Amino acid sequence: MGRALPRIAVVVVAVTLAAALGWFGAVRLLGPRTPAPGAATGTEVTGTASSGTATPAVETTPPPEPTATVEPTRTPEAERFDASRAMTHVRAVTALGVRKGGSGAESRAAAYVVDQLRAMGYEPKVETFKLTNGARSRNVVVRIPGEVEDVFVIGAHIDSKPPSPGGNDNASGVGMLLELARVWSDGRGPRLTLELVFFGSEEIIDGVSSHHHFGSRYRVSRMPEAERGRTAGMISLDMVGYGRTINTRTMLRGPRSLSDMLIREGRRAGLTISFLKDGGRTGWSDHEPYENAGIPAAWLGRQQDPVYHSAKDTASHVQPDRLGQVGEFVQTFVEGLDGEAVAELRGD
Ligand SMILES: [Zn+2]
Repeated sequence: MGRALPRIAVVVVAVTLAAALGWFGAVRLLGPRTPAPGAATGTEVTGTASSGTATPAVETTPPPEPTATVEPTRTPEAERFDASRAMTHVRAVTALGVRKGGSGAESRAAAYVVDQLRAMGYEPKVETFKLTNGARSRNVVVRIPGEVEDVFVIGAHIDSKPPSPGGNDNASGVGMLLELARVWSDGRGPRLTLELVFFGSEEIIDGVSSHHHFGSRYRVSRMPEAERGRTAGMISLDMVGYGRTINTRTMLRGPRSLSDMLIREGRRAGLTISFLKDGGRTGWSDHEPYENAGIPAAWLGRQQDPVYHSAKDTASHVQPDRLGQVGEFVQTFVEGLDGEAVAELRGD
């Protein structure tokens, strides 16, 4: 984990290069750190720089003087995780009621997520898939291009287990991921390319214990080989808003490198994160298919919730300070990921 390159340095380089090229438009093409508003979209936008039509003729006028107006204003408040904003999403999602996989309430919650992401300037992609009972569910996905092609996935499931309105499980994860999306909406946070996935239908939908994780399994099953190779890690944010301890979990089938890194970086941030092994054959959250695909994956959550899967798991059950603690940590962790960290995750 290296230190973040000071933003001002990026701007200085951009401005200098723009001046050298004598072409102001180059500033926009120089990298994902300074995208146009709304440039972080749900569709994969790559190669814009090479497809440019700029073949400037001999320049006869001096290049424009660089000005300080290149960098958009980014206040410290705007760039830090805000638990109260995340809680607003927790309340809104929980208010939609029990969101069983494939239900109308789950669909409405996905629509809420789409609306929120659009308001932040993203173009979310919605992918629908069929459940074993014939109902349809959906994932909502956005990609945030980074400086490097390596991808880091952060997921949170939208659905809840009846009769629970799913406050902690898992409007907490959805609220956290939406707030992280806001923080990163100017494209100037993490260096890795990020994929934020709001998964449909994580919970078991009937009496069959393997009938769950539909959204994440669907997504991984359709992931091209090259994309798998590019994916450096995956965190499932699930039950992040209640309880004292923070856990990272895997099935101990795939690499444990991400859990180890979370534990170490947690310690650095003053948080105790302890490892737990998932029970059962299929794991307990959406990290399962990623882990089975050999991608360093981990469930990050708080796991001592006495009202888990009950009607008492309401929005008011979620503890804003606990939500904020994990949200701030995840932001710092993801923004610290660099090439060195990717190599460590892959065991290189
Ligand atoms: Zn859950």
